[in-house]
Amino acid sequence: MKYISTRDRSISLSSSQAIAKGISAEGGLFVPETIPSLSLEKIEELISLDYISRAKEILKLYLTDFSEDELDFCVDNAYKAGKFSSEKVAPTVKVYDNVSLIELWRGPTCAFKDMALQLLPYLLTVSAKKACPDEEIVILVATSGDTGKAALEGFKDVPNTRILVFYPVDGVSPMQKLQMTTQEGNNVSVCAIRGNFDDAQNGVKAIFTNKEIEEKFRANSLSFSSANSINWGRLVPQIVYYVSAYCDMIENGEIKLGEKMNVVVPTGNFGNILAAYYAKQMGVPINKLICASNKNRVLTDFINTGVYDRNREFFMTSSPSMDILISSNLERLLFLLSGKNDEEIASLMKQLSADGKYKVSEEVLSALQSDFAAGCCDDEETLKTIKELYEKYNYLCDTHTAVAVNVANAYIEKTGDKTPMVIASTANPYKFSKAVLSAVKSEISSTDEFSMVEELNEFTGVEVPSQLASLKNKTPRFNNVANKEDMPKVVLDMLGI
Ligand SMILES: *Cc1c(COP(=O)(O)O)cnc(C)c1O
Repeated sequence: MKYISTRDRSISLSSSQAIAKGISAEGGLFVPETIPSLSLEKIEELISLDYISRAKEILKLYLTDFSEDELDFCVDNAYKAGKFSSEKVAPTVKVYDNVSLIELWRGPTCAFKDMALQLLPYLLTVSAKKACPDEEIVILVATSGDTGKAALEGFKDVPNTRILVFYPVDGVSPMQKLQMTTQEGNNVSVCAIRGNFDDAQNGVKAIFTNKEIEEKFRANSLSFSSANSINWGRLVPQIVYYVSAYCDMIENGEIKLGEKMNVVVPTGNFGNILAAYYAKQMGVPINKLICASNKNRVLTDFINTGVYDRNREFFMTSSPSMDILISSNLERLLFLLSGKNDEEIASLMKQLSADGKYKVSEEVLSALQSDFAAGCCDDEETLKTIKELYEKYNYLCDTHTAVAVNVANAYIEKTGDKTPMVIASTANPYKFSKAVLSAVKSEISSTDEFSMVEELNEFTGVEVPSQLASLKNKTPRFNNVANKEDMPKVVLDMLGI
């Protein structure tokens, strides 16, 4: 299986090369040249397997230059017993009517990013051994909250890697900040930036192409890679859980083999829902993919009109991991929908960086709308949804998941579509205690973060994950705040070069 770039399909790499590089030199993203298929007979075989075995069966179709031993080593370590708070790793649970949630937040950092970032360090170190032996890999991450912590936890003390995370000083939740600043490990570093998430992300991109740093890296046998979802190694582990959800829906008696399900995903960078699209293209019986946005509704507008326009007000919402106006993985979908037309994609992306806007062709729009539906909701509706789900069905969900539940209900009401539904539940509610508490309880006595965690626990009886509760007694290790102009210096200081 070869990987090609969305902006130049003559560039062709092995899976390990694509993962080690992260992004193609001309700015395109790597995608598999063809999508492997999964027959119903094969899916039937997967039903009786555990998550680790399901993952191996799917991943070996994509990572064809990994040996069986290498893949076993990666997958066994990523999802081994004790790392996730459910022995099913990502359980699919029915919550009401014909609606089930796949709980993707049972890993070490309590958000769905763990599903990929527990595996990526293994994939990346095995890949690097093949693609660029003798080099130490430096992972740079810009985060608005969840990716940073999940990447730190995944890469902590992984030999031959260093990781540095930049986050906007006022742009993450108190719990997300504490999770990062108290991170343990000898190869990790965290730095706040005076600026917003875009400043942090632009700063990281500038470092990737900084000539002076590049020379210093070469002299010291170092190379960069990315742990953001532009890296194929972040995306491919996510395909697994949609296949697994389908198997679980059969096991749970919600559908029979061959019957379809709908999938609803709370979306920011378009990585998670793109993985569901790949699962559908492989042959998993999926009817509609429903893209849910918060008040930053750039994707809803795009799917409904074919015009992508980031020239609009940016809102800070109660679902901060979806506060984003440029969804980078949309590029991969457009490449597929355009019949792998690299020139068309390069031109659209050029328009996006020049004008912040582009319009897709009628053909692409109609292909898009045959697979996808979209909806959005604001903070008030998000909190109302949390309250309703809790009071009617005794299920406590986080703000991001609530956006998806709200959009799912509106879709059912509007279309009358009775297809059984799986909603991606992306974070544990205690990561966003303030918003969740204010949704379910009318009078709140606490003011600081950990009293709110306790008050939410006393009120609902829902267990607090120990890895969040224990942060209360930890002292932050990383208190540095830098100006965005000084990010290159922060990198060199961290590496001591
Ligand atoms: C990252 C994140 C999302 C958005 O996922 P994308 O793959 O960027 O679309 C949704 N919910 C939570 C909790 C997240 O951390």
